[in-house]
Amino acid sequence: MTSDAASLDVSDLAGRQVTVAGLGVSGVPAARALRGLGASVTVVNGSEGEPQRAQAAELEPLGITVRLGDGETLPESTELIVTTPGWKPTSPLFLAAAEAGVPIWGDVELAWRLRGEDAPPWLAVTGTNGKTTTVRMLAAILEAAGLRTAAVGNIGVSLLDIVLGDEPYDVLAVELSSYQLHWAPSLRAHSGAVLNLAPDHLDWHGSMAAYAADKGRIYEGNQVACVYNVADPATEDLVRAADVEEGCRAIGFTLGTPGPSQLGVVEDILVDRAFVADRQKQAQELAEVSDVNPPAPHNIANALAAAALARAYGVPPTAVRDGLRAFRPDPHRVEHVADVDGVAYVDDSKATNTHAAEASLGAYEHIVWIAGGLAKGATFDELVLTAAKRLRGVVLIGADRALIREALTRHAADVPVVDLDRTDTGAMAAAVREAARLARPGDTVLMAPACASMDMFSNYNKRGDAFAAAVHDLASGRVPDDQ
Ligand code: ADP
Repeated sequence: MTSDAASLDVSDLAGRQVTVAGLGVSGVPAARALRGLGASVTVVNGSEGEPQRAQAAELEPLGITVRLGDGETLPESTELIVTTPGWKPTSPLFLAAAEAGVPIWGDVELAWRLRGEDAPPWLAVTGTNGKTTTVRMLAAILEAAGLRTAAVGNIGVSLLDIVLGDEPYDVLAVELSSYQLHWAPSLRAHSGAVLNLAPDHLDWHGSMAAYAADKGRIYEGNQVACVYNVADPATEDLVRAADVEEGCRAIGFTLGTPGPSQLGVVEDILVDRAFVADRQKQAQELAEVSDVNPPAPHNIANALAAAALARAYGVPPTAVRDGLRAFRPDPHRVEHVADVDGVAYVDDSKATNTHAAEASLGAYEHIVWIAGGLAKGATFDELVLTAAKRLRGVVLIGADRALIREALTRHAADVPVVDLDRTDTGAMAAAVREAARLARPGDTVLMAPACASMDMFSNYNKRGDAFAAAVHDLASGRVPDDQ
């Protein structure tokens, strides 16, 4: 068999030795699908806990071999690897595969290749931040237009399950991570969007240039529109670098007045100057800024990107408005928890990097900021510089809080800082009480940590839940037992 990934075909997998790298939400469906195609499947997974054993027990009766506790050794006679997104390109398994000339497909590549004849087109979204929100907005808009659709992909819904399932769709709203794009060379979306680009996951990609290039793959082969962020020229550069179908257009979105072939904002109205009969002279009203939930600047940008993809698919303006009105954000994304004594408490636990935190800090005027956690190699000078004027005070928690404290000392020396010096689970309740002391009526207490949560919580959801519980305790005057 040839070792060229492009020349391997899904119709040719019967009897082949295929290794799936990783279990979980994408590995399990990949293993099932490959087995269904008649391949001889081995799943390898480095960790070996209870959830992995349960998944193995699900797969083994299908004749799938599951090897737990060793994710590094390439199983003998492997002819193809199908990988789940988390695995680094430099993993020993992949290095061994490269050495042996074994092709590697991601689960998205497999799903793309398994699409049937009349498969629904994909409207695809990537970016450092805002992907999930934009994809959900897009699905809401498509639904409002009466189309059968779903928000799928990196959002937590396996594309394989969708592609192989019985549910008929007209069009899919697909979230893709840079990891998934890296391993999906033949993907050709109807239209694609890169929302923004900021350093993230560089340990995986190796460099900013490699990260950007992987994001840019979303534009390859687009048929109707490549949607980019006017405020982030690197996204437009990626459009220029892409090889697209004849007639495919570059469509910008901007928070300012849109030029021709752009969507933007004019006097609190979201307008379209791209998908109109005469884009030199005409603009189409789509929705009001107040239709976007929440109407923070970064979220209006997400709404415009979603609208651009929907309009590229031919959705009428009224569906954009109705979809945006129907959209409800996922929890922990700039979520208003409660007002206590005239102070708003907002949970942006999903702000796990500085780029995300900068967006939500930019949305409020007077802020008591709760920050800290695992910095993942980030620096905080730029973020603190941008936010300094809005900060009423800062409460720091978590393992890498010293990095933020040092940046505050350098750029916002007048801002009061409470360093809680804690990483236990009760720290969030203490942080909320300290924040309440610093806040004045009209202020916002914003938990946008700019860091990952795993030093204190199992994930960002748990961190957000702890914040919300502490705010509710504060509102009811209760002090938790462990304080
Ligand atoms: P992703 O799926 O890319 O992680 P989400 O929609 O879940 O994105 O949003 C994650 C966080 O990123 C939000 O909590 C918010 O702080 C921030 N965010 C959302 N949209 C944007 C944007 N367009 N630009 C910058 N930050 C954003």
